[in-house]
Amino acid sequence: MEFIFTPPPPVSLAIQGRSERFPVRRIYCVGRNYAEHAREMGHDPNASPPFFFAQPADALVESGSRLPYPPLTKDLHHEVELVVALKAGGADIPPEDAEGKIYGYGVGVDLTRRDLQGAAKKEGKPWEAGKAFERSAPCGSLAPAEAIGHPAEGRIRLSVNGETRQDGNLNQMIWPVPHIIAKLSQLFELAPGDLILTGTPAGVGPLAPGDKVTAEVEGVGALSFEIAS
Ligand code: MN
Repeated sequence: MEFIFTPPPPVSLAIQGRSERFPVRRIYCVGRNYAEHAREMGHDPNASPPFFFAQPADALVESGSRLPYPPLTKDLHHEVELVVALKAGGADIPPEDAEGKIYGYGVGVDLTRRDLQGAAKKEGKPWEAGKAFERSAPCGSLAPAEAIGHPAEGRIRLSVNGETRQDGNLNQMIWPVPHIIAKLSQLFELAPGDLILTGTPAGVGPLAPGDKVTAEVEGVGALSFEIAS
């Protein structure tokens, strides 16, 4: 096949303990999946259930990266999240079949230009400028489910310059992972290579140039990156 210019390289993630990589198709994200985080953003978690948005696959950056502070924001926020990586897909997946579709898990950060997101919310506009910008999705290497199982609990933490900012537990999710996959697959036909960022616990906050960020999910792995000064 001939192209009029060189196609972009495929997006992929490293896998713990393997030389093969995980090819990424789409990145779906869950909003307000932890009650305390919904409250800190000014929402009643009972009145406003979790929901979905998306990021482009090429927003991924691997652990150890140094990222420029993104343009047109003065309020870049961190959101640490458990990442689910699918090896199979489908539509209308029942919750009891969902774990069988999962290849593995990782640690991700849903970087957010909070000021642009806030302005979009206020005006009823889309979130892409706040959420789906270049390098908005740092993600660590994937841990295969065949090695670690399917974590339903475990600490999920993020530190900035060694100071803990977010410290939650996977068991605080409003929609647990099988439920997320079931709901998401009613809206979109899922496929191998899809990633799902499953929402962030409380404690989101701003990052500044020069900040060093470390994140980990107990039993899954870790992620680190730095904002260039
Ligand atoms: Mn998020």
